[in-house]
Amino acid sequence: MFSQIVGHQKNKEFLERFLNREERPHALLFYGPEGIGKCLLAKEFARAFLCHDKGAQRPCGQCESCRLLNFETGNFAHPDYLYYDPMTDDEQEKKKTKIISVNQIRNLIKQAAFGPTLSKHKICIINEADTMNQEAANSLLKLLEEPPDKWFFILIASSVSRLLPTILSRVIQVRFTPLTVEETKQALLLKEIPEAEADLLAHLSDGSLGQALRFREERILDFRNMALKYVAEFPMQAPMTYLLTEDYFSDIIPASGGNEQLQQFLSMTVSLLRDLLFVKSGLPDQVFNIDALPQLRQIAGKWDARRLHLAAQASQEAMTAAMRRANTKSVLDDATFTINACFEGRV
Ligand SMILES: [Zn+2]
Repeated sequence: MFSQIVGHQKNKEFLERFLNREERPHALLFYGPEGIGKCLLAKEFARAFLCHDKGAQRPCGQCESCRLLNFETGNFAHPDYLYYDPMTDDEQEKKKTKIISVNQIRNLIKQAAFGPTLSKHKICIINEADTMNQEAANSLLKLLEEPPDKWFFILIASSVSRLLPTILSRVIQVRFTPLTVEETKQALLLKEIPEAEADLLAHLSDGSLGQALRFREERILDFRNMALKYVAEFPMQAPMTYLLTEDYFSDIIPASGGNEQLQQFLSMTVSLLRDLLFVKSGLPDQVFNIDALPQLRQIAGKWDARRLHLAAQASQEAMTAAMRRANTKSVLDDATFTINACFEGRV
């Protein structure tokens, strides 16, 4: 069961047992780092929970319930399935933060007056439940204290500490741990991402599938390749001329307002300098940018470990400057001069 979801074996076994129990608590809380598949597993569990089949192969994929709740085809027309995601409501509009609002919980409470119509139960998933404010949380608490008949809830959160203790006392907590690099890679391969890219993204994202997919969307590989070329250039005879001739400010990093792109570039520079330190320390298996290992070995030969450490620090500081939205061009100019000075032992 749940074989199409990579990792989380113990939790899958727990959910399978849970599904087959006669008596069960009415609410679970899935908690753990973001982007590791909590929501994916909750949705697949919902599908199995509502499936009309009684066998071990739930969700069967064939029954009316499975046809009306199919995440692959995007059909969520199942009347007994409710899903809430954080939204930007009017009050929050200015802050640009998304929350599970009290209005959403009020809507849920209205729905809770009705029982299941197609399946034996109703299931409600509240994603990022830790974004609820006090008012929303208190409303939800009332529902959890007196759960409507045949209803079942799954709350999903990255941080347990942001949930009210009273809510925590009403749910069974299921802890999720990050995926291993290999598991992340397998999950990316399932999404038909080419193997070399999946391998690199899995290493860079440190066990978060969500992060790996975001990296892919943000063209992180373009930035990584650009940073690799950059790092290989040190020591530079004339840093300024190099930056000018290589045209660093193009469509990849716009010369004005390109702070986010510059941050991506610098974060890849930090990750490469960190990898160089691992290579120098004889720990190549710790390297994130494994596809670039032969080049990293070559570059590492030029550097002294202590200077590498200082250069990584300088890149990190440049990243902070880019985050403060300082002028992108001067941030990269300064970083390049400083890294060069680190290499030459002048810092
Ligand atoms: Zn089914």
